[in-house]
Amino acid sequence: MQVEYPKPDWTEKFLLLDLFEGLKTTLRELFKPKVTIQYPEERMEPTERFRGMFRFSFDRCIGCKLCAVACPIDIIYIDVHDETQMVDGKPKKLKVLDRYDIDVKRCMFCALCEEACPTKPKSIWLTTKTYELASYDRNDLYFNMQQLEYWEDRPKYTGLPEENAKPQIEAGKPAPAGARLIPGSAE
Ligand code: SF4
Ligand code: SF4
Repeated sequence: MQVEYPKPDWTEKFLLLDLFEGLKTTLRELFKPKVTIQYPEERMEPTERFRGMFRFSFDRCIGCKLCAVACPIDIIYIDVHDETQMVDGKPKKLKVLDRYDIDVKRCMFCALCEEACPTKPKSIWLTTKTYELASYDRNDLYFNMQQLEYWEDRPKYTGLPEENAKPQIEAGKPAPAGARLIPGSAE
């Protein structure tokens, strides 16, 4: 089907009204407060309900696997074994975690796992306000239970090094031990 567009009249052709309409928007935005910031020197504080990186508590988790069942894309891997421990002076059979891994690179942060967790407070939650998870290696985004519990110890991204701090590598020679390479800067 052929679409017929209305023909522009002479005012649209010669007075460039559309152009002034666009400039009006530009001028209006020019004097509004800016929302961009100089990351990573400046950081924004996410809102209260922001879903950031996971947090896990080994002590709270009862190994029920409800979070893994609730996950729609099956990226939570849990292994448990039964153990008898003394609780309040009485022997009690408990499930003890051997493995609690999340393949975070595939996660869509739907928080269904957090919703399904029956412990109070939750053993897995996403309201940590952390969004600095960028990585050059996909495998860095597979977290085990220690990493899920203590990921705040991960080194934070501080920006690229100063120009003169880049390692100078001559063609064909290996980089000196400990040199920090910027991805894409050297073959
Ligand atoms: S937030 Fe991620 S891990 Fe949790 S249920 Fe959703 S997809 Fe699965
Ligand atoms: S995190 Fe919560 S839902 Fe998942 S195994 Fe532990 S207690 Fe169960």
